[in-house]
Order: sequence, then C-alpha cells, then structure tokens
Amino acid sequence: MLFKRLHRQFTALCALITMAILSLFSVLYLSVSERTLWENRTLSFQHDFDTLCGSLEQQTAITHSFLLRMEQNSGSLIFLWDNHSPFAFNDLAGHEPYLEQAERLYSDYLALFSSPGYTKVTNGRIISCTGEQIVGITTIFTGQMSGAQKAVSLQQGQGLVFLLLSPGDAYHERILRQRILFLLLSLGGCGALTLFAYLFTGRLLMPVRESQKRQIDFVNGASHELRTPLAVIISAAQARPPHFEETVRSEALRMGRLVDELLLLSRMDAQNLRPEGIPADKRQAIQPDTLLLDAFESLEPLVRDRGKTLRLSLPEKPLPRLKGDPDRLRRLLEILVENALAYTGENGLITLSLESSSAGELLFRVQDNGIGIPRESQDKIFERFYRVDSAHHSREHFGLGLSIAREIMKLHGGSIEVTDAPGGGSIFLCRFPV
Ligand code: ADP
Repeated sequence: MLFKRLHRQFTALCALITMAILSLFSVLYLSVSERTLWENRTLSFQHDFDTLCGSLEQQTAITHSFLLRMEQNSGSLIFLWDNHSPFAFNDLAGHEPYLEQAERLYSDYLALFSSPGYTKVTNGRIISCTGEQIVGITTIFTGQMSGAQKAVSLQQGQGLVFLLLSPGDAYHERILRQRILFLLLSLGGCGALTLFAYLFTGRLLMPVRESQKRQIDFVNGASHELRTPLAVIISAAQARPPHFEETVRSEALRMGRLVDELLLLSRMDAQNLRPEGIPADKRQAIQPDTLLLDAFESLEPLVRDRGKTLRLSLPEKPLPRLKGDPDRLRRLLEILVENALAYTGENGLITLSLESSSAGELLFRVQDNGIGIPRESQDKIFERFYRVDSAHHSREHFGLGLSIAREIMKLHGGSIEVTDAPGGGSIFLCRFPV
C-alpha cells in the first residue's frame, strides 16, 4: 500500500517535472519559429511589393491582364487608383475586408496630402508630405493581412496610387498547423515520459521494497527463533521437571546467543549503510597471515576436542596488508570453521588457507570434507535464517552465521562464495579486493 502510494507520487512528480520542461521548451521553440515565420513573411511581402512597384513604374500602359498576372504571382490583392478613380480589374467578391482596408488606406493618403510638412513613421517606413507630392510607402502588417501602398507622381492629388494587400490566411494556417503539431507531440511526449517515469520509479523503488521485505522476513525469523526457547521455559516452569533449572539456563543461554547474533547483524547493517563502512577507530592495517595464524591457534583445540583436524596453509612469500576490522575478520573465520566443524563427520578435516589470486586479490579459503551443500542451496545459504535441512538441524544453529559472514565481507568491500570441494565437502572462498 505504502509502496503503491509512493510509486504513484514519484510518477506524478517525475511526469509533472518533465511536462513542465517539455512545455517550456515547446513554447520557446514555437515563439522563435513563429517570429522567424513572421519575419520571412514580411520580407517576402516587401520583396513582392518592390517587384510590383518596379514593374508598374516601367509600364507605359497598365493592362488588366498584366495586373491579374501580377496578382497571381504574388498571391496578393492589388488595388489601383488612377487620378482618384479606382481601377477595377479584378473580382473582389469575398474580399470585402480587404476592400474596406484598401479604402481606409487610400483616404489616409488623401488626408496626409492635405497636411503639408507631415512626416510619420509607419512600420519602419517613412511617409512624408511636402504639400506638393506624397512620396513614400506605407506598410501595414497585422495578423490578418500585410499591406503596402505607394503613391507614384502624385501631384496636387493627381497620379497613380497602388496598394498591395496580402491575406494572412496561409501564414495563419501554417502557424495553426505548427501549434497543433506541437500540441500533439507534447501530449505524446508527456504520455511516453509518464510511462517511462512509472517504469523507472518502479525500478527505483525495487531495492527499497526488497529491503523492507528482508526486514519483515528478518523480524519474522527472529520472533520464530525466540519463541521456541520461550515455549520451552514456559512449559518447564509449569511442569517443573527434574532438571528444571538446567533447562531454563540452557534455553536462556540459547536466547542470549541468538540475541547477540541479531544485534551483531543489525550493527553491521547500520555500518554497511554508512558511506565510510568500518568506523575509523576500528580500521587497521592487518597482516593476513598473522590473522589466520591467530585464528588457527584459538580454534585448533576446539576442533581437536571434537576428534577432527584443523590445518593451516600459508604462502611462503608475505602478502600485502589488509585494511579492515580485525575483530570482525576473526569472527568471519570462526563462523566458517565452526560450520565446517558442525557439518563434517568423523575424520573431519578442515583446511584454512591464504593465497593471492592472479588479479592480486587476497583469498581466504576454508575447506572441509563434510556433507557438502546441494547446488540449489548454494546461493540461499547466505540468507538470514536459511538452513539447508531445517528439520534435521541442531537447535544450536539459527541459520545466521553465513549471513553475518556475508555482511562482514561486504563491510570490507569483498565477497564470499561457496563451491563443492573435490572429493566431497565444501569450500568457502572470501575475496578481498586489493
Ligand atoms: P547455521 O547456524 O545453521 O550453521 P549458517 O548461516 O552458518 O547457519 O549456515 C546456513 C546453512 O548452510 C546451514 O544450516 C547448513 O545447512 C549450510 N552450511 C553452512 N556451512 C556448511 C558446511 N561447511 N558444510 C555443509 N553445509 C553447510
């Protein structure tokens, strides 16, 4: 439930951020592109107008067919006044707004003509009126249409005035098409990004989910292990059997050992979560052969007492020092040797050896000739509370030893693995990076 909510919230957050970024970039791109389109349209209109002006000025007689051809070429509407009379040559049905605009512009011209000395800047073009002659070009550029008007040899109100109006429909259509395309692309992009965010955050949360599952399994396992000695103590307290005190004592000791192992694991979990790993006051440069020799000397009597043999094999030349926590490394070797002891029969032989790999890694090896570990369990034995055959297990074993060993190796930046020993038994190999 918690993960589902977290997943939804993360997805929504990622989707919102990506949508905001995508929309911002789309709007920026559209505004730049629309501005460029507008500028191109203005330039092309001015070019058309200049061409038209040039052609008109060169004509001695202006014919209908010439004007119609010019209209067609420029894709615009041409209006012409010859000595104040409109020169009708084209069909303006359906173009009433342009006609109105053209008449307005023309009357502006006439008004200008009656105010001598007038100079005005319109859209960057200068119109000046000397009272004698209006020279210049006025241009209008609106969203709806582009327009330009020029008076040619207009003396005392006489002369030729022509006006070019270019409908903005094509431009608007292009802008609209571009906006729709961007809207669709943005919607598609947002959908794809939301899906990606959903899958990505799902993957991102996976380790958290797994860690919580491990935590729950751990608490379940611990409660289960603690319940057994408690049940024994309670029933012994009720029935008061002959060795009541002894039973309570041994069960309490068992519980104490379990609690110690649980505490150790939880402390190492905390250390493994810290970026520095092993605390600085515990970290030392350790001579690996000395470490193995110490472990051998302290464990050998125990192995011998059980009628089994512990051997030590050290390399001839000294190996590089290892940076780590000597107490934890001793515990690692104890766990591996105690397991080897527990899972070997008579004539048990346990070999503790040290070597360096071709890649320069330091290798601790604990080999036994015991019962071995089935292939399908070899990955699982490092999990907490996992035992290969829990039904036939001594109550002294909680299934925590190898998970502690793995945490110790993680703390030292190394790894632990198990393989079958030739001729039966198991080999536990601990790799320390150089
Ligand atoms: P336990 O306290 O039960 O020994 P461990 O985590 O140390 O827990 O080991 C997990 C399981 O792996 C054991 O229950 C046992 O079945 C198997 N195992 C560990 N070491 C050996 C070994 N040297 N030989 C055979 N089986 C082993």
